[in-house]
Amino acid sequence: MVETTITGQSGKPDLTLNPSFPTATLVERKDVTEDLMVIKLEVSEEFNFKPGQYCTLGLDKIERAYSIVSAPYEKYLEIFVELVPDGELTPKMFAMKIGEKMSIRPRAKGLFVLDPKRHHHFQLATVTGVAPSVSMVRQYLHDGLDNGHVFYIMYGASYLDEFHYDKEFAELAAKYPDTVKFVPTVSRPTEERNAAWQGVTGRVNTIAEEYLAKFDLPKDDTKVYACGHPGMIEDMKEKLPPQGWDFVEERFWKP
Ligand SMILES: Cc1cc2nc3c(=O)[nH]c(=O)nc-3n(C[C@H](O)[C@H](O)[C@H](O)COP(=O)(O)OP(=O)(O)OC[C@H]3O[C@@H](n4cnc5c(N)ncnc54)[C@H](O)[C@@H]3O)c2cc1C
Repeated sequence: MVETTITGQSGKPDLTLNPSFPTATLVERKDVTEDLMVIKLEVSEEFNFKPGQYCTLGLDKIERAYSIVSAPYEKYLEIFVELVPDGELTPKMFAMKIGEKMSIRPRAKGLFVLDPKRHHHFQLATVTGVAPSVSMVRQYLHDGLDNGHVFYIMYGASYLDEFHYDKEFAELAAKYPDTVKFVPTVSRPTEERNAAWQGVTGRVNTIAEEYLAKFDLPKDDTKVYACGHPGMIEDMKEKLPPQGWDFVEERFWKP
């Protein structure tokens, strides 16, 4: 395959790209913790996707899937990335500066999308696994649909500073209480880093059944979405579908 090197705004050579793919230029970066960052990318071509889908980003011939946080109506592609210190791609992504480019496969993929046949969308997410939920809720509210869909966002993290999207969901839940319900939970409440935490505690998979009952969700009109940590998803898959819950999953890695 022919490769080319594109020169970035800094004048330094940018990273080697596959010329047959569009480019995704880093236009914004927020470091959430030492190993979590939110980035915004400007794609060189029109990039269509459905809320919940993922894109495939690459640098130096290494490509990985990333669920899209932004909604299709937004200008930039927003991605929530966790650093895997021994990983091949994420250390390179964390070294990126504004103006540098990645490659992006021209088509988004994935079946982890909103099921419009159900009205209750019970979404279990760990850390970066919140991306599809953010995209779905942003687009739904942007479209101004008043057709009775309700999103229940169960958002788990080890530490409170890993949430990042908690403020957005808390605000939406306050503004649209009939449409957005938000339950953030930390799994290590006794650790010093969580000293300020006063909310729900426990892994998201250990509280899911309690909240399905609390919200009194009807099995025949509810979809359960589980995204992120494979351990959380495996546990939920063992428990919920056998009870008759309609279940869809997106695992971010294999243990
Ligand atoms: C559909 C899909 C959507 C995804 N969306 C996101 C997303 O929105 N944000 C995001 O950060 N990642 C996401 N991922 C994971 C992403 O594709 C990469 O696997 C991840 O960024 C690590 O890449 P790497 O090259 O640095 O590590 P690799 O070299 O691929 O992995 C090294 C090792 O770490 C394991 N591993 C990978 N990710 C993790 C992790 N988070 N924690 C612990 N171990 C891990 C791998 O299984 C492997 O054993 C998604 C994966 C899939 C399949």
